[in-house]
Amino acid sequence: MIRNTKQREAIMQVIEKAIRPLSPAEIHQLAKVHYPSIGLRTVYRHIKDLVESDEIAGIDYPGQPVRYEVVDNRGSRPHLICRRCGRLFDLPIEEPDLYYPEMKDFVIEGHEVVYFGYCKHCPEPSNPHSL
Ligand SMILES: [Zn+2]
Repeated sequence: MIRNTKQREAIMQVIEKAIRPLSPAEIHQLAKVHYPSIGLRTVYRHIKDLVESDEIAGIDYPGQPVRYEVVDNRGSRPHLICRRCGRLFDLPIEEPDLYYPEMKDFVIEGHEVVYFGYCKHCPEPSNPHSL
């Protein structure tokens, strides 16, 4: 079990050190630097465990893989998504207060604010509408 604990710590460190929320595949790739033999299934198991213990939280956008980041007590932040590579970044500002309408047929549990654009690895196309 000691080995499992160390793997869990390594996965937590990968997520803590990342400058952006990571998908399980990205976490797996980075965890393999420390544990070359670690399997994707093991990574998923530790992710589930870290989510259940409220150490990390998943960000789930439609059509995107769930990305994980450290639970931040300062409140949720809006995100940036690169249209080309799909990487997700935190926008270091407080999430704007959004008006929640009263709905009788829908229970609103929350919301996400997301900005789209191009990251530094992906040059902005001259005509974004040609994509
Ligand atoms: Zn990009």
